[in-house]
Amino acid sequence: MRRKVVLLFLVLLFGCRSEIKKNVILISLDTVRRDCWGELVGSPRLDMPNIKRIFEERKGIVFRNAFSTAHYSVPSHMSAFTGMSSIVHSILEVKVGALPPSIPTIAEILKSKGYTTIAIHSNALLGREGGFHKGFDVFIPIRFKLVPSEAILEEVSNYLGAAVEEKVPFFAFIHFMDAHSDPQGRDGNTLPYYSPPSYRKDLPIKEGTFCRYNRCADSWLRLVREEAIPLKPEKVELVEEIYRRGVRFLDSQLAKLFDLFEKWNLFSNSIIIIFSDHGEEFKEHKYFGHSQPFIETIAIPMMLITPDNDAPKIVDTPVWLPDIVPTFLDYLGLQYPVAFDGLSLFSLLSKNQVKRKIVGTAHVYNRWSFFIIDFPYSVKYDPRTDRVKVFNLMKDPKELHDIAEIDKRNAAMLKNSVKEELIRLMIKRDRIYGAWPRARFYSFDRDVEEELKALGYL
Ligand SMILES: [Zn+2]
Repeated sequence: MRRKVVLLFLVLLFGCRSEIKKNVILISLDTVRRDCWGELVGSPRLDMPNIKRIFEERKGIVFRNAFSTAHYSVPSHMSAFTGMSSIVHSILEVKVGALPPSIPTIAEILKSKGYTTIAIHSNALLGREGGFHKGFDVFIPIRFKLVPSEAILEEVSNYLGAAVEEKVPFFAFIHFMDAHSDPQGRDGNTLPYYSPPSYRKDLPIKEGTFCRYNRCADSWLRLVREEAIPLKPEKVELVEEIYRRGVRFLDSQLAKLFDLFEKWNLFSNSIIIIFSDHGEEFKEHKYFGHSQPFIETIAIPMMLITPDNDAPKIVDTPVWLPDIVPTFLDYLGLQYPVAFDGLSLFSLLSKNQVKRKIVGTAHVYNRWSFFIIDFPYSVKYDPRTDRVKVFNLMKDPKELHDIAEIDKRNAAMLKNSVKEELIRLMIKRDRIYGAWPRARFYSFDRDVEEELKALGYL
């Protein structure tokens, strides 16, 4: 019945179309660390075997040096939606700012080209308040679910199923929140990350292992962080293992999504990008969560799938989230008069040594700072102190040894180059924004406000 209503809605909205256009599908795996993709990204452990299977079967292209534009959800998703760095689009927090009309989202662009646009997501931060709904005909937030992917798959089945049946070309944004820490200990869950019991029955978890002062789940994670409660290394490892079991469960849910794609023949008539908005920390740099811009949060997995690739491929060229929009437009042969910060991934495929500066914004304890990848260097710049931290990713891929004090000349050169790039982007931002207000505050409806409080954002 539900399916028929959805179908009728789409038909009324768009009529029947017979023109064949490639569909565009963007899949976000919130909080999935790059190293969950195993050998595809040079990591010893594979937590997502269905990603590897689809990479092989559908001849995907994995970018193993992919980066976000922030260590948290809002700016990173907005970069994926607009093709802009987080400095230029400036949507850094959900309560600040609104995109000016001169920065269109991919949904707005594709809608203007005749696409049906559908968003099904499960992150409370990606709501209308931040302008994430712009350009979408159908915008469905899934909230307050212990297992959000179940509801996501149901809506995908309804809405994408109807679009496929009607043969309307569509752009779909499909977002999975399952790997994120469980913010509210829903349905009595006391673990920091959720997975069904069958996924973790071999782990040494006892009643109350992740509770303190009646705070469990994500709340416990924040408590041990805020109060700097020391944990034994085995317990930190256990937290990470629970996270990875959750990722494994998410992977099994993706298998169901890929089955639907097979059934609807979408792999042969769609361009698909799968990415994560940021990773997750397990005390590599002291904290849990995704609270600071080190490699474990800013490095992300990313894969491109088209019907035209003749063999699976792993690419070393550094890429970042602003590359997504130009890639879609390039593939579809669409022109749009916007100077994106990103480049089409297709233009980077044949060049393995492209010199690029990847710039992101960080927000740690109410302080704004920046991170820059300028291979092989990874630089953190704090504008208040005018100081840099410098890591050589070739020699120190986990960013454990700051070489700014050892290699002072290089650090000074990198700092200058970073500042030049920041100024260039800020000038671009100011030109695009003009008189458009950049600091507007929004009022949330109560549900969203509660969820954001639970996530620790308000
Ligand atoms: Zn996120």
